[in-house]
Amino acid sequence: GIPAARPRPLAQRRQSRQIMVGNVPVGGDAPVSVQSMTTTVTSDINSTLQQIAELTASGCQIVRVAVPSADDAEALPIIAKKSQIPVIADIHFQPKYVFAAIDAGCAAVRVNPGNIRKFDDRVGEIAKAASDAGVPIRIGVNAGSLDKRLLEKHGKATPEALVESALWECSLFEEHGFRDIKISVKHNDPVVMINAYRLLAEKCDYPLHLGVTEAGPAFQGTVKSAAAFGALLAEGIGDTIRVSLSAPPAEEVKVGNQILESMGLRERGLEIVSCPSCGRAQVDVYKLADEVTAGLEGMEVPLRVAVMGCVVNGPGEARDADLGVASGNGKGQIFVKGEVVKTVPESQIVETLIDEAQRIAEEMEADGAEP
Ligand code: SF4
Repeated sequence: GIPAARPRPLAQRRQSRQIMVGNVPVGGDAPVSVQSMTTTVTSDINSTLQQIAELTASGCQIVRVAVPSADDAEALPIIAKKSQIPVIADIHFQPKYVFAAIDAGCAAVRVNPGNIRKFDDRVGEIAKAASDAGVPIRIGVNAGSLDKRLLEKHGKATPEALVESALWECSLFEEHGFRDIKISVKHNDPVVMINAYRLLAEKCDYPLHLGVTEAGPAFQGTVKSAAAFGALLAEGIGDTIRVSLSAPPAEEVKVGNQILESMGLRERGLEIVSCPSCGRAQVDVYKLADEVTAGLEGMEVPLRVAVMGCVVNGPGEARDADLGVASGNGKGQIFVKGEVVKTVPESQIVETLIDEAQRIAEEMEADGAEP
């Protein structure tokens, strides 16, 4: 048939430098990526990996984990190794956890050097370690934790105050020649947030991480984030997004992806997602994922297919996938939208998935879904 007219493009993308968060490029001409943050206690490795599996299955591309304690820092090597998507360590004050996160193989660290300088001035050492390891840093300014000095100067967390704070934090790294940075300036009011990012976009060429803080429960948070991100993305501003909701993080990812799809910034094709595997895995998840990927190669339908390591949690974690398999005891449970539809011997997993994928693709076409 006649191809549908492409929608009018949004404003030209702001020119930003590109950084690499693990294997995900952020900034420059890279597609806008979706990220989220785990809500588990990071040191509870199995729960954290399970939640990362769920996020990955929902289409999350980068995940952040909080590192408030030494136990959490100690869990980072396994989490970074087993996660299928790049892991960012979120650290507030302790330089030693920053070094631990870099050594652990985390893809990036979120830390504000202003805090580090206040407690233990090791910003130069952090810049060196991060630069040697090729690990970028996110500087995250939040209205709620704005520097006292800037609060006094500006009266409250205005866009100017947020931007001044962010650029000052950047300068602490720039003094050491470090520029592998992305920035967020979050506020709970979308109007303040939009203006802060507009101002920041003019004043630097760092890639920007969009977020509305304390956006609230699912409905309100979804609307606030869609309004704020929509306005900025339409102006070509924003390189990675995180929707914050008082709801399970997989919901954040769904909303984030939907916003990008709505803005025409994301075309869905076939996507294979697999769990990072944890203590419950009963199969070599990586090998199975490779086989499934090879088996489905060439299909051009917008399907998300999940490969999960165990039958206990796999289908539930991959609820947002269209189709998937969870393995255990030499069998594969085939599930559609989180419901198990059949169980087959391990040797038949790949062919069954192909059949099911074709069936779902035909159904989609019959429903008049866009190709
Ligand atoms: Fe989740 Fe099971 Fe994979 Fe562990 S093995 S991450 S519980 S699906």
